[in-house]
Amino acid sequence: MINKQYYELSPLDEDIIKKYHNKFPVSLSSIANELNIKIYEGDLSVLASGQITKKNNGVYEIIVQKNQSSKRQRFTAAHELSHFFLHKDIMGNGVADNTMYRSHLSNKQETEANKLAADILMPMSEVNKKLDEGLSIDDLSSYFGVSQQAIKVRLGIPF
Ligand SMILES: [Zn+2]
Repeated sequence: MINKQYYELSPLDEDIIKKYHNKFPVSLSSIANELNIKIYEGDLSVLASGQITKKNNGVYEIIVQKNQSSKRQRFTAAHELSHFFLHKDIMGNGVADNTMYRSHLSNKQETEANKLAADILMPMSEVNKKLDEGLSIDDLSSYFGVSQQAIKVRLGIPF
């Protein structure tokens, strides 16, 4: 279900994610709650998608760009949660991602966050099940609460 070819995820964190793979679209706020992280919409720079910030009290918060579509915001929130899962020890006080999901972290780390975000939002077992049921790209986009582009990337379809 979780493809760990691209990143190292602790078994504990994997369990947290899998717990919310019984209902779709996946409840990102439930996963965030388990981690004591709050997700907000915010008025970020037009070149920004989102950010995760460690506050003075040690609690993390995620802000997603309020002008983006809710599906895009969901991918951003999953991407920022993925930075927390994978990079909290190396990201300092946080990560700010631009619209291309680039930040002060390396491209390898950004790719890891994108891969885990896709695994959180669109577990392949569920994607394959829904493909077998004959869902279209449009149906899959609604079912998983992600953009058609995100589904196409997941399925390896050029766009
Ligand atoms: Zn990032």
